[in-house]
Amino acid sequence: MSSLEFFKNIRGEIRFEEAMAKHTSWGVGGPADYWFMPKDKTDLTEFVVTLPREVPLIWMGLGSNLLIRDGGIRGAVICTHKGLSSIHAKPLNQVEVESGVTCAKVAKFCARAGLLGSEFLAGIPGTVGGALAMNAGAYGRETWDVVKRAEILDRDGHLDVIDRSEVRAEYRNTFIGQEKWFTSAVLEFSQGKPTDVKKKIRSVLSDRSNSQPIGSFNAGSVFKNPADDYAGRLIEAAGLKGLRIGGASVSLKHANFIINDGRASATDIEELILLVKATVLEKFRIELKKEVKIVGVGG
Ligand SMILES: Cc1cc2nc3c(=O)[nH]c(=O)nc-3n(C[C@H](O)[C@H](O)[C@H](O)COP(=O)(O)OP(=O)(O)OC[C@H]3O[C@@H](n4cnc5c(N)ncnc54)[C@H](O)[C@@H]3O)c2cc1C
Repeated sequence: MSSLEFFKNIRGEIRFEEAMAKHTSWGVGGPADYWFMPKDKTDLTEFVVTLPREVPLIWMGLGSNLLIRDGGIRGAVICTHKGLSSIHAKPLNQVEVESGVTCAKVAKFCARAGLLGSEFLAGIPGTVGGALAMNAGAYGRETWDVVKRAEILDRDGHLDVIDRSEVRAEYRNTFIGQEKWFTSAVLEFSQGKPTDVKKKIRSVLSDRSNSQPIGSFNAGSVFKNPADDYAGRLIEAAGLKGLRIGGASVSLKHANFIINDGRASATDIEELILLVKATVLEKFRIELKKEVKIVGVGG
């Protein structure tokens, strides 16, 4: 698929051989064959329908939970951030938001409107689409706790609205089936006062900057917490803080974070993930499961 002819009706931005390191919070990742940022939902649908069926397609938001391998992605990547950017208030304390809007923007929007219940989103550095896909959460709350319904696009270009009750969402996982992606959601909160919501957001953000290596290249928690324990506690107890492979190391501040010092390859990070997992298994007989998604081909 080398011809631009395929994309003649597309209004958004298409880049070829786009370095994915520019689009992930770990700052690593080889080139994607096609990288697409739609102008809006119609443009997005047109792209999905136009893309030949045999071309693999993945969607991303801000790449804050993604490890893209050094060989990059054979196929197309859709980035929803910026293109799917509308957010507006609805009656009954609801907010309709497209999937490219950042979680931080949702929290800010809700704070201004005095809508309580969105504060946990304030420190999650991804998009609403990523949060829906991951069932992102913090401080005892998860994304699907506040979802009323969501809109989904499939590979044939069909849009469908599904109710919260039709979706199986669990700890850092949501099941909607193959080749389906989120375009928007209606979130529901409760009425409060803007000052209270803003205060809670400030507290969430300050707590995070005290406990997480904010400002470094990382992807948040690498592993899910096992039942009744914390991945970070196990990794620290295994003596792995500071463990390094190439430019990747286990954070000294939060053991469940892996930091790229600016020189890491995706291979360094992936090898370190495997080493941490194997060491925790050997020491504690507990198998850590990855929270981050690993995609692409080795370099
Ligand atoms: C410093 C830091 C702190 C973090 N703290 C938290 C936290 O407290 N809680 C938490 O849960 N996570 C946390 N994360 C991880 C990450 O921010 C979340 O998982 C976030 O929801 C990912 O959003 P994203 O837009 O970056 O998704 P991406 O990383 O771009 O994608 C993640 C996954 O979602 C899929 N996806 C993205 N958009 C869509 C869509 N529209 N439709 C369908 N699938 C889609 C992708 O294909 C991929 O599988 C943190 C990350 C960092 C770097």
